[in-house]
Amino acid sequence: MGPALGRGPELSKSKKAMAKKLTLLVIHCTDTPAGREVSSDDIRHWHTDPAPKGRGWSQVGYSDMIHLDGTVENLVPYDTDDEVDLWEITNGAAGFNSTARHIVYVGGKGGDTRTYLQNVALFGYVQRTIAQHPDIKVAGHHDLNQGKACPSFDVARFLRVNSIPKKNIYKP
Ligand SMILES: [Zn+2]
Repeated sequence: MGPALGRGPELSKSKKAMAKKLTLLVIHCTDTPAGREVSSDDIRHWHTDPAPKGRGWSQVGYSDMIHLDGTVENLVPYDTDDEVDLWEITNGAAGFNSTARHIVYVGGKGGDTRTYLQNVALFGYVQRTIAQHPDIKVAGHHDLNQGKACPSFDVARFLRVNSIPKKNIYKP
């Protein structure tokens, strides 16, 4: 977790030396009920408002979010190279953030609530990310932090049945 969060791309060049390689795409859910929409502002409040209202993090937990209608909204910008610059870091999974990108779908409370359009969007997102970063591995939050239910579905199975190559599955 780096200090210079939420700055612009102009900082990236001087910070390049500290950037680590992007190795992980982590899938999350917002842990909200089926059919209830969540805005990017909601997520910003939950994560960055001071405790006890929010978690008091320096940055949100996800780079992108997938709304109920399949729209992908960017929360924290990133570039297309293979490094996680400090300004790209999001706080989705303690211990993994300096080498990870995090994507969240809206829903997931009590089980897999993905809509058809979210499912399609998520698969497209995974495919595009792998096309840009051929060595990346895709994980569910529960694969990294034991005891977490997030994202409320078996990510490895989702990847396998959609013919994602084994080398891109974190726990194949
Ligand atoms: Zn999560």
